[in-house]
Amino acid sequence: MNSKPKSFDELLTQETHLYLCRSVKWTAYLSVFLLVAIFLATMLQKHHVLTLQDLLVLQMPTLCIALFGLAGILYRQPEQHRMGLVLAYLLVLEVAWIYFVIGHYWLTSTLSIQWEYSSLAAVDSVVDVLVFTFAISLYPLRGWLLVSVVPLLTVSMVTRLIEIPENPIFAVTKFICLFVIILTGQKVLLQWFRKAILRNAEKLQLLQQFKRMALIDGLTDLSNRRHFDEVLALEIKASERTGDPLSIILLDVDFFKRLNDSLGHGEGDRCLIRLGEVLRGVASRPRDLAARYGGEEFAIILPDTDLDGARHIAEQIRNGLKSAEIPHPDSMLGDYVTVSQGVSLWQPWLDANELLASADRLLYLSKSQGRDRFNCGVAKA
Ligand code: GH3
Ligand code: MG
Ligand code: MG
Repeated sequence: MNSKPKSFDELLTQETHLYLCRSVKWTAYLSVFLLVAIFLATMLQKHHVLTLQDLLVLQMPTLCIALFGLAGILYRQPEQHRMGLVLAYLLVLEVAWIYFVIGHYWLTSTLSIQWEYSSLAAVDSVVDVLVFTFAISLYPLRGWLLVSVVPLLTVSMVTRLIEIPENPIFAVTKFICLFVIILTGQKVLLQWFRKAILRNAEKLQLLQQFKRMALIDGLTDLSNRRHFDEVLALEIKASERTGDPLSIILLDVDFFKRLNDSLGHGEGDRCLIRLGEVLRGVASRPRDLAARYGGEEFAIILPDTDLDGARHIAEQIRNGLKSAEIPHPDSMLGDYVTVSQGVSLWQPWLDANELLASADRLLYLSKSQGRDRFNCGVAKA
């Protein structure tokens, strides 16, 4: 419950990571789809420009890398992938694609003298798909996006310059236009992405605040009575199931009214805060829960603790308070604040109210015996 809400930067990193992992998956899927489409388009041509063997040699690295990525991403949860590895994988996939595109162009441009086949059109359409695939995959990281997109655009421009050397303006214009479109698109998408995450961070923060307000006592920072009641009911259920012992301690500050009257309410509040610190230090196991039960009354849940263990905790509270030396000028028991306690061990047939009533009776026994002490007992209905 005391877990810190994630900051905007932490959420941004986390969401970027998840997005990149998802991108790898669909970039790999798309790569496989595109390879199959190219394979079919080539093979279904009346006269193949490339032989089946040429095509397989060209496609195999990209296909293997795409399938390897799919296997890797499907095998593990997105959170388990390291960001560096994800980015490196995307770049390796892109290098494989560039190998395919250049190889394809090289072979088809020499062979297409014999056949009616535009190697430029083939390269262009594949590169266009790839440019947008990588741009969308990497838009949260502008630097990596540029590293992936510029080589592809350059391949496209160079092939166009080789194929149509008399008209270089079109090749350069296409390069510039696509480059600008991708950069502006990236900016807009990134703004949306960040805005959505910021809104999410604000929502989470508010939720944490509401949770805190609902379950935590504002003065002592311990759990409040509502949280105490909820947890006690759960722990009783757990003990019913497991048969583990369960104890509680109720405690009440001795002569607290006199402390308020002599030092003022401000000092009274400070006393409660310091007592809260002592209790927090004593209820130190992960499932222990110290709460302000109301006014100057406190309660502790001690799961998996028998009466001997609970007695030990009550002793620790007494000793802790002694060492804390919280001044009480008008106590009838000494110069420092003391508490009276009731320590009760739960029995399987008892509900939370009966357990609390039992601890309360033992607490008031301690009061009537002169205060600054505790009484322990097995709870009775
Ligand atoms: P006893 O030893 O019998 O417990 O005597 P007591 O004076 O502690 O008991 P009593 O119940 O008469 O007084 C409790 C006082 O605690 C009265 C109330 O004003 C004060 N109190 C309750 N909540 C707070 C708080 O949040 N801050 C301060 N400063 N005082 C509080
Ligand atoms: Mg009281
Ligand atoms: Mg009191």
